[in-house]
Amino acid sequence: MGRGRKVIETPIVERIMAKVVKTPGGCHQWEYTTNHGGYGVISWNRKQYYVHRLIAEHAYGWKIDGLTIDHLCRNRTCVRREHLAVVPNEVNSWRRNNKAFQDMMNAHLAELHALELAAEEDSNGGNK
Ligand SMILES: [Zn+2]
Repeated sequence: MGRGRKVIETPIVERIMAKVVKTPGGCHQWEYTTNHGGYGVISWNRKQYYVHRLIAEHAYGWKIDGLTIDHLCRNRTCVRREHLAVVPNEVNSWRRNNKAFQDMMNAHLAELHALELAAEEDSNGGNK
């Protein structure tokens, strides 16, 4: 995967984003097809791709071959760019097995989301 696709294809990203639901926790959750592992997948050019991988590849310009994508929120169907960390496989499995890291990351994401909600409220208030 990756080689030969030099053009960033916005339509596939739009197709994905049209099928996500924003959760109260701040995830952009893919609500359609998932594979056996519980990850979101989409058919594109007659092949199946991980939706979170396409989003990350789009964000980083396809230059993530050989790296894995760590869902910081542990929500396997989340495609939110800010929740996807591109890391070597060892880092991904270390994090997955490290409860302290996960607790820290959950707290961090919850805090970010609270700030986001507060900012949204402010801007809504300003439009009135
Ligand atoms: Zn998420």
